[in-house]
Amino acid sequence: MVHLFNAIDELLTPWLKERGQGAYRLGQVRRWLFAQRVRDFREMTDLPQALRDELARDFTLWSSQIERHTQAEDGTEKLLLTLADGGQIECVLLRDRVPSGWRRTICISTQVGCGMGCVFCASGLEGLARNLTTGEIVEQMLRLQLLLDPDERLSHIVVMGMGEPLANLNALLPALEEASRDDGLGISARRITISTVGLPVAMRRLAETNPRYRLAVSLHAPNDELRHRIVPVSKKIPLTEILAEADHYFERSGRRLTFEYVLLAGINDSPAQAVELAELLAGRTALLNVIPYNPVAGLPYHTPSAAAQRAFRDVLEARGVSVQFRHRKGDAIDAACGQLRRRLSVEGQESRAGIVGA
Ligand code: SF4
Repeated sequence: MVHLFNAIDELLTPWLKERGQGAYRLGQVRRWLFAQRVRDFREMTDLPQALRDELARDFTLWSSQIERHTQAEDGTEKLLLTLADGGQIECVLLRDRVPSGWRRTICISTQVGCGMGCVFCASGLEGLARNLTTGEIVEQMLRLQLLLDPDERLSHIVVMGMGEPLANLNALLPALEEASRDDGLGISARRITISTVGLPVAMRRLAETNPRYRLAVSLHAPNDELRHRIVPVSKKIPLTEILAEADHYFERSGRRLTFEYVLLAGINDSPAQAVELAELLAGRTALLNVIPYNPVAGLPYHTPSAAAQRAFRDVLEARGVSVQFRHRKGDAIDAACGQLRRRLSVEGQESRAGIVGA
C-alpha cells in the first residue's frame, strides 16, 4: 500500500486520471484530509462510494500507530508513535494563551533518533536510526490536528522534535509545503520555525532555495571549546561559520533569527558565559531563547537554580540582548524531545529485567 502523505498531488493526479475522474477530485480529497480532518477515505462522503473503496484499497493514510497519548494539565499533549518498521518518534501539541486568543503550536520530529549527539538530549542517546519520510512528517501534523476540538485551529509549527531537521531537508521541505499551502494546513510560512544545531551547507541550501521559514540555531555554548563538549558534531564546525550562515539566512529571508540556548547548571550558566554570549550575538537582529534544562533520567545534568537563571538573564539584558526564557510546558508528560520515548524504553528494559513492579 502506498502512503498517500508522501506526495498527495503526485500520487493522486495520475491515479484519478487513469480512472477518468476530474481533477477537482484531488481538491475534494485534500479538503477532507486537511480541513474536514477525517481519518478514513470512507468518511469522504462527496466522493462516489466506489472511488472511496478504491482509494482505501490503493492508499494508506496512516503508516504509524499511536503507542501512547499523554496530556498535561496545561493543555500540552504528546504522542509517541510507532512507525511501520517499529521505530518510535514523538510529536507534541502545545496550547498557549496569548493576547489575541490562543496559539496552538505543534512540534514535530524529522528523524528516528538523532546523530548530532548533544550530550543533554534524550533523542540522541542511541544515535540516528533513519530519516523520516515526507509522509511520516505530514502524518505527525495531521495526527496532532486530530487532537484539537472542532473549533480549534493550529497556528504554528516548530520543527524541533527528534532529529536534526536540516539533515533531512529532502523529506522536510515537501512536508512543510503541505503545512503552508492554502489547501493544506494553511499555516503561514512565517509561523513555521526550523531548528538546527547549525549545519552550514544545509543552512546555505535553505537560504538559497527556500528562505520562507524562520530559522532557529541551537548554540548551547558561547565558545567553540565548550560547544565541542556539549554538541559533539560541532567539533568540525566553528561557531563563526554557523553564525555567518545564520546571517546569510537572515539577509535572504528578512526573518528575525532565533538562537536557542539550553541552560545547564554549572556548565554553561555562569554570568561570565552570559557576557561571552552577549558579545557573540552583538549587532544581530535576533531573539535568544534560553531554555532551562529539563532533566532526563540517567543523564548527569541539572536545571540551574532560579537565582542562577536570573543572574544569567540580567547580564544578557544589561547588554541589550533580546532574550526570552522559555517556560517549560508539559513537564509532567516528558514533553522535551525524546524524553517519553526514552522513559518508556527504560521502563521496558526494567520491566523485562523484572525491576518494575517487583
Ligand atoms: S538536541 Fe536536537 S540536535 Fe541535539 S541530539 Fe537532541 S534532537 Fe539531535
